[in-house]
Amino acid sequence: MAPKWVGRRLAPAAALLLLAVGGGCGTPPDPPRRTAAAQPAAPKPLPDVSRRLAAYQPVQLQPDLASLDRGERVVLRHLVRAARHIDEIFWRQVSPDNIRLRDWLAQSADPASRHAYEFFQINYGCYDRMHQHTPFLGDAAKPRGANFYPTDMTRAEFEEWIAAHPADATAFRSRTTVIRRSGGGLEAVPYSREFRALLEPAAAELRLAAAAAANPSLRRFLELRADALLTDAYDASELAWLDLADTRIEPALGPYEVYEDRLFHAKAAFEAFVTVRLPGPTDQVAMYSRHLPELYRRLPAPRGARLPPWQRGAPIVVADAVETAGDARAGIQTSAFNLPLDGRIRSERGAKVVMLRNIMAAKFRHNIRPILERLLAADELRHVGFDAFFHFILFHELSHSLSPNQHALDAAWSVLGASGPPIEEAQADVLGVWGLLRLSDAGVVPLGRRELMTAYLANMLRGARFGTFSPHGQGNLIEFNYLRAHGAIWLDDATGRYGVDPARLPAAVEELARELIRLELALDRPAADAFVQRYMIIPPELQRALAGLLDIPADIRPEFAPVPPLD
Ligand SMILES: [Zn+2]
Repeated sequence: MAPKWVGRRLAPAAALLLLAVGGGCGTPPDPPRRTAAAQPAAPKPLPDVSRRLAAYQPVQLQPDLASLDRGERVVLRHLVRAARHIDEIFWRQVSPDNIRLRDWLAQSADPASRHAYEFFQINYGCYDRMHQHTPFLGDAAKPRGANFYPTDMTRAEFEEWIAAHPADATAFRSRTTVIRRSGGGLEAVPYSREFRALLEPAAAELRLAAAAAANPSLRRFLELRADALLTDAYDASELAWLDLADTRIEPALGPYEVYEDRLFHAKAAFEAFVTVRLPGPTDQVAMYSRHLPELYRRLPAPRGARLPPWQRGAPIVVADAVETAGDARAGIQTSAFNLPLDGRIRSERGAKVVMLRNIMAAKFRHNIRPILERLLAADELRHVGFDAFFHFILFHELSHSLSPNQHALDAAWSVLGASGPPIEEAQADVLGVWGLLRLSDAGVVPLGRRELMTAYLANMLRGARFGTFSPHGQGNLIEFNYLRAHGAIWLDDATGRYGVDPARLPAAVEELARELIRLELALDRPAADAFVQRYMIIPPELQRALAGLLDIPADIRPEFAPVPPLD
């Protein structure tokens, strides 16, 4: 979906002036002045924008919707429309000046700006998500708190305000408020107010979708979610989402992940996934979740650690994406998600994993297989397959449910700060491969140990390409360096190719799992920071290996086929 051009259209000259006054990306420009003297130049895109753009392979995705009945297709059409409003909200969450800059780029005629505009759409703004959110247009740094807080507000100012106004604490720390300056102080504004103009049409589309839905659980979720968008009370609809049953249509839409807020990891970014369930593969993998309690009992925890009691497994849905929007669509494409995030709901009702098979298959084909052909030793390459990779991602998602802090992740991250997300993501990987190896031995997972270990290595190398910019990539680097230091991953100096040592990997994985669980349970920020700083690096050997991959697209840029017309 191409984001819409909204807001007022400016004549090119006027737009140039507007931006020039603001000094570039991320700074709201002042109104135009009559004299253009002494104004800085308009923001220029970096010269390598075209190369950066080539990192995203355009892929047409055409999920098979032929088996859906007329009513289901009506539902899908309304959901796609709702997703477009959600998309527009995310644009506004990224930076204060985003929409104005988008309008300006949209009408720029020269080729360099065309590429910049395309890249801008991929990144939902002028900050390169594959390069630590650094600007590729203009030179202003991205505010750590995106547009969730005043761009000049510090953590200290936020904390001091709450200390002085304890009654504001809940609203200020809420996942669904933005913080704004007001009357010389700070104010928490609920999302339902801040984004009313877009939430109302989104809710209306959800109600139309609900009216067309034959499945009662889907109808209920859509109605409750429409209410939630306008009231910020999401709990009932989160529960209804977990209760979706016997429906081909599996939508998730609302404020979810908190990664866009790099100041506090507290504010939720809007996103949408419109998907259709694949019943066969869903049945096939659903049985894995029955093994989670047993895996939790045998978790490689540090000696003497007291794990909270096992709560509940995560149901798994395998689906094809029909449309994605907002946070899910920005930069690197999400290929699986595990929701809801609310710790209390997770502890009472558990979570659900949705795997986006068509997105994963496209990534495997265009981004992963080609890099493995260059980075893996010949012997290792024989064990590469999509099935094992699919299982690895599946178990990564399932393993978030095995995290000992799963029921209090928000609280844990507020203590662990920036080290929280990479530790959690590394832990999900490590417990994922640990669980897979056990279930392979037990004959539950129909894949051999060797293929699974290769899939694990493949995922680390894939993630390392993204460097330290995302929690997943950060986690991958921690694992890679730890396992390399423990001899579980080897490098052939002559060829520069990697392989795993199948005799050492399982024990090293258990040891790393124990270390990560210890860090999550201890809630000791200095210890967590020290561990992350030690291992979250790109060593020169890996840097050399990654440098040889520049011509291979690092991700995909999906273009979804429209939902077929109703007959
Ligand atoms: Zn994860």
